[in-house]
Amino acid sequence: MHLRHPSLRRLAKERENNMSDYSTLIIGSGIAGMQTAIDLGDMGYKVLMIDKQASIGGTMIQLSKVFPTLDCASCITTPKMSSAFHHDNVDVKTLCEIHDYKQREDGRFEVTLLQKARFVHESMCTGCNECAEACPVVAVDTGYDEGMGYKKAIGVPFATALPQKAALDIDNCIFCGKCANACPTEAIDFSMRDELTTVVVDSIVIATGFHETPMIKEKFGGGSIKNVITGKQMERLLAPTGPAGGVFRPSDGKIPWSIAYVQCAGSRDATIGVPYCSAICCMFAVKQAMLLSAAVPLADITIYYMDMRTFGKGHEEFFEEARAMGVNFVKGKVAKIEEDPETKDLIFHVEQFGEDGGLKTFTHDLAVLSLGVVPQWNQEMSAIVPVQLNPDGFIKEIRFATEPGLTSIPGVFAVGTATGPKDIVDSINSGSSVAGKVAVWLSGGLREEYDVQYLPIAPSVIGGK
Ligand SMILES: Cc1cc2nc3c(=O)[nH]c(=O)nc-3n(C[C@H](O)[C@H](O)[C@H](O)COP(=O)(O)OP(=O)(O)OC[C@H]3O[C@@H](n4cnc5c(N)ncnc54)[C@H](O)[C@@H]3O)c2cc1C
Ligand code: SF4
Ligand code: SF4
Repeated sequence: MHLRHPSLRRLAKERENNMSDYSTLIIGSGIAGMQTAIDLGDMGYKVLMIDKQASIGGTMIQLSKVFPTLDCASCITTPKMSSAFHHDNVDVKTLCEIHDYKQREDGRFEVTLLQKARFVHESMCTGCNECAEACPVVAVDTGYDEGMGYKKAIGVPFATALPQKAALDIDNCIFCGKCANACPTEAIDFSMRDELTTVVVDSIVIATGFHETPMIKEKFGGGSIKNVITGKQMERLLAPTGPAGGVFRPSDGKIPWSIAYVQCAGSRDATIGVPYCSAICCMFAVKQAMLLSAAVPLADITIYYMDMRTFGKGHEEFFEEARAMGVNFVKGKVAKIEEDPETKDLIFHVEQFGEDGGLKTFTHDLAVLSLGVVPQWNQEMSAIVPVQLNPDGFIKEIRFATEPGLTSIPGVFAVGTATGPKDIVDSINSGSSVAGKVAVWLSGGLREEYDVQYLPIAPSVIGGK
């Protein structure tokens, strides 16, 4: 390549002398981030994938089965996790976040990473979990089990976690030392501290995913009614890897014989800052209703909805199948949920639409709120890596209609639900398509789109196999 400008020639010279650490840093290891990592790794690029959790896998590894195929989520996620984690060209850091970022004159990025202390040396831990056996602390698991199960203050985060290494939860630890005594390899180290490290990368992919909309609506109890749970909590109850081996009511542990879903409970509502449709909630409610028909065969299942949006491949058929299985779909608006103080049953006040419509009252044992999708990447994160956000808070794709995944910063890309609500298939597609864009960027393309003249990637960051 002919380089016209002297400063570009100087940078080219410097590049020959300075090895870059990685071609791509991927922030977030959900299904979208993992797919991008695998594809770039397969193309021969050296990738670093980080996640703030103690294991890779994101939301998908918490799910029961997936619509519309009803494949076991754990069975199809675990091989992806393994492919990414064990890939020769992919390095993985968990309990790791970005702390600082600088774009250099040559377009490459110096990123300072905050490595949180695990209090367990990964290289020494065998994943035997004897530390967890010895630990006397039993705390509510607000992570993997979404508050529906319990965990020890130390241990491997869950059965299929990667890395298969214990992590100590410093907030719940009482520092009794029993885990350290039990550990056969002396891997536990209370002196570990958070550390900052800097990497130089040629591109960044933001794959930080989503959260469910918080349960803030007072009319549904604002998170204070025990038998009103979230979609993710129901996923954990339905999952074969779930905490209780079945579906139960949080208030008394009994089997719920009447279960109700409230659609759009955290979407299509400007008053809570989520005016958009979250795209997945109709389908996951239908899926869970079908799974409940098998898990609690005698239960009545009702879905209160305003519109059912089942537009994807195989989705309408899936919806029809649920109807045929006897799931009760009621078109109407749930105005309020009240708790019976004695029985803890739920009294639904519903404005039902249609011929036999009107204001009605129904009683259910358990309610699931189909909450919406809000981004994990927020203004605070954009203060570190200053990508522009859309008014709805998701990362802005500057050429959304023609080149999805390109952010406002040349060399920084975004995938999966970091750019907007998506199901798994769309998240995987987005991961693969952006991997292609990153490869184009690394080989010197996409410069005109941004009106920049950065050089292609140095050969030194193309990995080996
Ligand atoms: C209840 C429920 C049921 C669902 N069921 C289905 C289904 O049956 N079929 C289907 O197709 N879809 C389903 N979905 C949607 C599916 O979960 C998503 O499409 C998919 O998980 C999105 O993947 P992702 O990689 O974009 O994000 P995520 O899975 O959210 O992954 C993001 C990752 O980024 C990490 N991260 C976030 N911020 C940072 C940071 N600052 N630094 C480092 N790491 C960070 C997170 O820890 C996480 O690991 C369901 C969703 C819900 C809520
Ligand atoms: S030191 Fe902390 S993690 Fe270890 S056994 Fe005691 S409470 Fe559990
Ligand atoms: S920290 Fe020690 S006891 Fe715990 S899983 Fe690792 S090797 Fe086993």
